[in-house]
Amino acid sequence: MQFSSNVAQLQPSATLALAARARQLKAEGVPVIDLSAGEPQYPAPRFAGQAAIDAIAAGKTGYPPTPGLPELRAAIAGYLEQTTASERVDPASVIVSAGVKQALFNCCYALFGPGDEVLIPAPFWPSYTTIVELAGATPVIVDTSWDEGFVTDVDRLETARTERTRGLFLNSPGNPTGAVYDLERLTAIMEWADRHGIWVLSDEIYRRIGFVDSVPSVYDVPVPDRTVLLDGVSKAFCMPGFRIGYAVGPAELIKKASDLQGQTTSGAVGPSQAAAAAALGMSEEREAFVSDLVSILSRLRRTGLAGLRDIDALDVRPPDGAIYFYVRLRDSSRSSMDVAEDLLREQAVASVPGEPFGSPGHLRFNFAVQPETLDEGIARLATHFNA
Ligand code: PMP
Ligand code: GLU
Repeated sequence: MQFSSNVAQLQPSATLALAARARQLKAEGVPVIDLSAGEPQYPAPRFAGQAAIDAIAAGKTGYPPTPGLPELRAAIAGYLEQTTASERVDPASVIVSAGVKQALFNCCYALFGPGDEVLIPAPFWPSYTTIVELAGATPVIVDTSWDEGFVTDVDRLETARTERTRGLFLNSPGNPTGAVYDLERLTAIMEWADRHGIWVLSDEIYRRIGFVDSVPSVYDVPVPDRTVLLDGVSKAFCMPGFRIGYAVGPAELIKKASDLQGQTTSGAVGPSQAAAAAALGMSEEREAFVSDLVSILSRLRRTGLAGLRDIDALDVRPPDGAIYFYVRLRDSSRSSMDVAEDLLREQAVASVPGEPFGSPGHLRFNFAVQPETLDEGIARLATHFNA
């Protein structure tokens, strides 16, 4: 079939494809341990689910306003005021979309186009490069290294900058590495970007899932005009199926993103927005939920790391945040794609290889699963690699 040039470069989402494959094998009766897609395998807050049910029961099933329900936009603004150093966030600077994925797409599509270059530190979440390409712009990969903790700095970014550089993606804590940018590094990068008129798109979907003293937001730094913060409820609130994400940025950009959304999806699902408004707006319940989740994840991280360290074939580094172990394969004679394939076929363990993240030679495991699932997964890895 002949498709348009719009999708000439389009790659399917590798993370979602692997999750679908694991699901298919499970349906066929294979006892798969699925550590592939990055989704917390824990239920959403009951009070959030109840808010969606209440919205439906109350007949609130009409089209929501395209940029989002006013109560959700206000709840997001309030949430940022309560959890970052920003004292005042205007709800008009917030747009609600169907997940961070759509929020990111809207902003990239509105900001970047042919001839524009967008810097993306690697390893990166695979949708970044694809979304930039769909906007017609060019992703420029800036490598980071294992030894330097997978974070970039102003010197490296300056080396990659050209007169066409229009944007930079930041993702802290990062998927897949769990790397966190500290305040000093973040401030230096923001100042550099501001000096050169570069938009910073800061994906903070894992900001509340930190295992270090602090995980700064771009809203902890004096926010330059060309800054977009992206976040949602898929990770820290265990609500990926609700499909709610948001972008916060200059009102003019948000208006353009809303115009785009008005011509594509008409906005995010109404009852899901009611659920997200409860999740973010009920501050006491919200903080209790996040704190319980982070305690659970800290325990999983600790036991998982102990198990992985007993496997000689893997180099392991403790993630500072997010929900992944990103391990390096000591034996470079086989690609990580092949090793992931072997693991699925021989041990029924689903992982994601490093290739789609722009860093071959690694494997990513989601540890936000039930403790017995993680234990069994690690036991199978040990059987596989220590054989
Ligand atoms: N950004 C990162 C770094 C992610 O890992 C994910 C995971 N799905 C997303 C964005 C998208 O999240 P969602 O569309 O579910 O909000
Ligand atoms: N972000 C998650 C992951 O990296 C979920 C899948 C996706 O949205 O790509 O696995």
